[in-house]
Amino acid sequence: MDKIIIEDLKIFAHHGVFEHENINGQYFFLNAALYVETEKAGMRDDLSCSVDYGKVCELLGKVMTDNVFKLIETAAQTAAEAILREYSLVKAVDIEVRKPDAPIEMDFRSVSVKIHRGWHRAVIALGSNMGDSRGYIEKAVEQIVASPQIRNVRCSELIVTKPYGYTAQDDFLNGAVYCETMLSPHGLLEFMQSVENAADRKREIHWGPRTLDLDLIFYDQEIIADADLIVPHPDMHNRTFVLEPVVQLVPYYRHPILGMTVTQLLERLKKK
Ligand code: AMP
Repeated sequence: MDKIIIEDLKIFAHHGVFEHENINGQYFFLNAALYVETEKAGMRDDLSCSVDYGKVCELLGKVMTDNVFKLIETAAQTAAEAILREYSLVKAVDIEVRKPDAPIEMDFRSVSVKIHRGWHRAVIALGSNMGDSRGYIEKAVEQIVASPQIRNVRCSELIVTKPYGYTAQDDFLNGAVYCETMLSPHGLLEFMQSVENAADRKREIHWGPRTLDLDLIFYDQEIIADADLIVPHPDMHNRTFVLEPVVQLVPYYRHPILGMTVTQLLERLKKK
């Protein structure tokens, strides 16, 4: 993808772990690469089709001077998130925060942190079969919508379904959410778990009753098999109550391992 590059933007700020850094301040240098499709702006010679790098520099200056962070990691992260939130044309961003006067008692040119952040597509399944199920799910969707690291949230209709696995329990209410997020897969999982915990989730039996259950179904076309996170969700293709709401939202989303769209997976499951 095309990039708009800003190099060595010099900003005086007060970030640092040491108190003297917070009091005296020092110069920081920022590099940024904005991933933007510039074709339309290039053809029309029109800035409104692109991103104004002057304004981006102002935003970077504001992030750096309105805050006092201990870490340049936090400065870089806050700057990246601010750009992604402010400029919808920016699909992803590289940010490097360099600190040439870092308090190191040796000869060195510079220390820096360089990060990459961008928007990713995610599909989350929601379920509840305890208490006010609709209320728990609606509150969860509100929290997802309110997250500063998530945008373009679309929610499916909620459907009543029979319990799966452990069957001696109340019916479930199920739905799904499609969104874009700048969180990593693990960051998103952590956020989802905080939403579950906010719904006073108690669950003693595996597959048993729960106030709120959030599963990460897809994250872009990524395949993840970590101890605490498996994506695509390993059982989604066997669950009508997951596939139906997902098909409603993103009928052409393709399962990166099975190679079929969610519509095809649902048709196959119904035939079984
Ligand atoms: P459950 O509440 O039954 O969905 O299980 C939650 C546990 O499954 C958590 O400890 C997660 O770390 C783990 N897990 C693994 N893959 C996923 C996924 N795709 N979505 C949600 N939780 C997952």
